[in-house]
Parts: sequence; structure tokens; C-alpha cells
Amino acid sequence: MEILILGGGASGMMAALSASEAPDRRVTLLERQARVGRKLLSTGNGRCNLSNLNLDLSHYHGQCPQFAQAAFAQFPVEKTLSYFQDLGLITVSEPSGRLYPYSNQANSVVDVLRLAMTQRGIRVLTGWEAIKIWKKGTGFLVKTNQTDLAADRLIVACGGAAGSKLGGTQSGYSLLKALGHHLSPLSPSLVQIKTDPTYPRSLKGIRAEAHIQLCRSSQILAQRLGEIQFTDFGLSGPAIFDISRAVSTQAGNLQVILDFFPSYSFAQVTTFLVHKQETFPSLPADTLFTGMLHNRLGQCILSFAGIPHQMPLEQLSQKDLQTLVHGAKAFPLAVTGTLGMDQAQVTAGGMLTREFDAETLESKLIPGLYACGEVLDIDGDCGGYNLQWAWSSGYLAGKTLSKEGFHDSHP
Ligand SMILES: Cc1cc2nc3c(=O)[nH]c(=O)nc-3n(C[C@H](O)[C@H](O)[C@H](O)COP(=O)(O)OP(=O)(O)OC[C@H]3O[C@@H](n4cnc5c(N)ncnc54)[C@H](O)[C@@H]3O)c2cc1C
Repeated sequence: MEILILGGGASGMMAALSASEAPDRRVTLLERQARVGRKLLSTGNGRCNLSNLNLDLSHYHGQCPQFAQAAFAQFPVEKTLSYFQDLGLITVSEPSGRLYPYSNQANSVVDVLRLAMTQRGIRVLTGWEAIKIWKKGTGFLVKTNQTDLAADRLIVACGGAAGSKLGGTQSGYSLLKALGHHLSPLSPSLVQIKTDPTYPRSLKGIRAEAHIQLCRSSQILAQRLGEIQFTDFGLSGPAIFDISRAVSTQAGNLQVILDFFPSYSFAQVTTFLVHKQETFPSLPADTLFTGMLHNRLGQCILSFAGIPHQMPLEQLSQKDLQTLVHGAKAFPLAVTGTLGMDQAQVTAGGMLTREFDAETLESKLIPGLYACGEVLDIDGDCGGYNLQWAWSSGYLAGKTLSKEGFHDSHP
């Protein structure tokens, strides 16, 4: 049986390896870029956060996140790690549950996949781009930028539109739409958010631990605790990435509320400030948060509260202190959007999962056609969840084909 896999990213390489587990399968992997695993090399800031010990469906999104359950049941985190260990990759976990290669190098992950494909005799064609797919008899004909290729079974593993500089493309969506499949709306996820830049710009580069609430009027749409980073145009950092999906998929006037003292109540922060005022009455107001927050962040809260920076602490009124505590625990920023697909790590939206069988990843519309990875309408939170979906879905699509009887199952 000739199996053709379109896309040499995380899910495509995993699909190629699992499909080739049956000796009578001839597997060809097509990659339009000059090398396989280009995006993988940039994951996790070059360290590749390849999975997470806290895998749970609550970390996944899309019109039907439950669709991913069958793939995770077949290829859970433990099986993924032992599979990689068999390929020679040792992994380590962080206290947060995030998993990385022991080498801390994303290229270790790409290398073990690449070497295993060579060992298995998988034909890897780089610089080959699939342009159109035709159903031909019980199989397929694929037009490429080189020559046409025929296959008995086809797996579309072309990824999503996010990270376009690293190979993110709409190509997979177009190929599948031309075959009759449907696409849900696409938007960038795991991406920086844009806000009123006035305060963030003055804090550019500063990191802080904060509790973030994304709100529309009094409604809380998303919230996270974690590190944020101020930028020229707004906010970045892991906790911001996690609420970015809600920003790019929600309409209306959005606002983020930042709590820079998430472990302390309003009353406790008030006590800290009153103590500071009483102990250092003649110091200028811009020292009020010294020892508690980054100095520039403290000064920014002072500006937000409209307090002159040189005013002696003893002159701060009760009302001034209340405004300052409010700025420290509920700093509001108007949200204007997110950066685009170029900067996003993952695409929210994709090919409708209800048109695929969750147990096999075969198309319900075109027998013999499969899809896996980000091209489908499944996206995960920051923390290794997207790659775990790529591994599990790639494995499932390939495994289904390695077990399938010859041509007769598809009239
Ligand atoms: C900067 C960045 C950092 C990230 N970090 C993490 C992380 O640490 N942990 C995590 O879990 N996730 C991370 N992600 C997300 C993760 O990389 C993706 O979700 C994952 O790679 C998706 O796998 P995939 O196989 O579906 O797609 P991809 O890995 O994108 O692979 C698709 C491949 O198909 C090729 N292709 C597309 N169209 C065609 C065609 N017509 N013909 C031939 N080839 C084609 C593309 O060139 C590409 O190589 C990150 C993403 C980015 C952009």
C-alpha cells in the first residue's frame, strides 16, 4: 500500500513513523520547505516544549475539543514519552509539568524523528509542495510543484496558518476544502495582545507575576495567573498567550485587569503601604513600592493614580492610598486586539472535526483520506499541549493505516 503524507512537521513525521510500522507499507512524506520540522526547531524558544504531564481536555479548544479524546486515549503522554525514548530521545519535566528534551535543544526532537524515518526507509521529499488532490479510483493523485504522485491513502498534515515565517500556511485548508471539507473561522492564538500602549510602552521589557482577567463590561471572559511582559504595543508572556485566544475570538470592548499582588488581599496591600508611609514619612512617593515591585512598575502605578512622584509619603491621603492599592491590584488596560498569524504560535479554528472520524482520523466524506495536527479545528493552551495533539493525532492516523487491510476496505 502506498501511503502519502503531506507535510513534514510534527504530526506528519509521527504519522509517517506509525504508518511504517507494518512492513508492507510504502510511505512517502512530502514537505514543501527545504527541510522537515522547520517549525518544530523554533518551538519552546528553541527548547521544544514537546508535551505536558497535566494533559487534560480542558486545555483544548475548537468547536468540539472532545474530538481529541480518542487520539489521546490511543497515544497518551506516557506512550509518547516511551515512544520517543525508543527513538533515543530522553526527556525531562519541569515542576509545571512541561516536558522538554534532556538536551534542551529542539533539534534533538527533529533529529530523532528524521533518523528514525531514514532507518524505516520512509521516502522524504523536501522542496515538494502539494498543490491539488484528485480522488482517483480507490486512491489519490496529488499534483505537486515537481511531478504528480499517486497514493492508495493520503494523510494531510499540513499544519495551520500560525507562524507563517516558519512554514505556517493555509495550504492544508485549501487542499481539503477543494475536496468538499469545511473550515471554521481562523484566528491567531498563543500570541501577544495589543492594548492602550501608554503604560506598557513605558514599562517595555519588564516582567511581572500577575493575575490577569480579560473582561467585557463586568463579565470575566478568561483569567490566568502567571508571568506577563510589557511591550511597545501591549502585553506578552505565557499567561497573556493563554488569554489571547479569547481576545481574538471575542467581539466588543475588552479590557484586561492586572493584579500585581495576586497572593495578597486589598487589605494586606493597604497595610504594606500604610506601614511604608509611617516608617518613611519624608521619602518621595516614588519609593512607595520599592522592595515590592519592579521600581518602574511602582512608579507607573503612581502615575496611574495621578500622584506627583516627589510628594513626601506623609502627604498621601487615605484616598490616595486607596487609588494606589486599586492600581496595584486592579490595573486596567483597554485591549485593542492581538498580533497576527505571523506572530501566533497556533491557529484557533481549522477543518471541521465533525467531518472526520475521531477514532481513526479518516474523512467521513472521502474514504482513504486522513488529517492530523493543527490543520484540524483543535488548538491547545500554552505548555506543550499543541505538540501533544500533533503527536497523538499523527500517531493515530498512521497507526490506522498500518493496521488496515489492503485496498478492499474502500470501495
Ligand atoms: C514560534 C512557535 C513556538 C511554538 N512552541 C510550541 C511549544 O513549545 N510547544 C507546543 O506544544 N507547541 C508549540 N508551537 C505550536 C506547534 O509547533 C504546532 O502546533 C505544531 O507544530 C503543529 O504540528 P503540525 O504537524 O500540525 O504542523 P507543522 O508542524 O506546522 O507542520 C506542517 C508542515 O507541513 C508543511 N506543508 C504545508 N503545506 C504543505 C503542502 N501543500 N505540501 C507540502 N508540505 C506542506 C509545512 O511546511 C510544515 O512543515 C509553537 C509554534 C510556533 C510558531
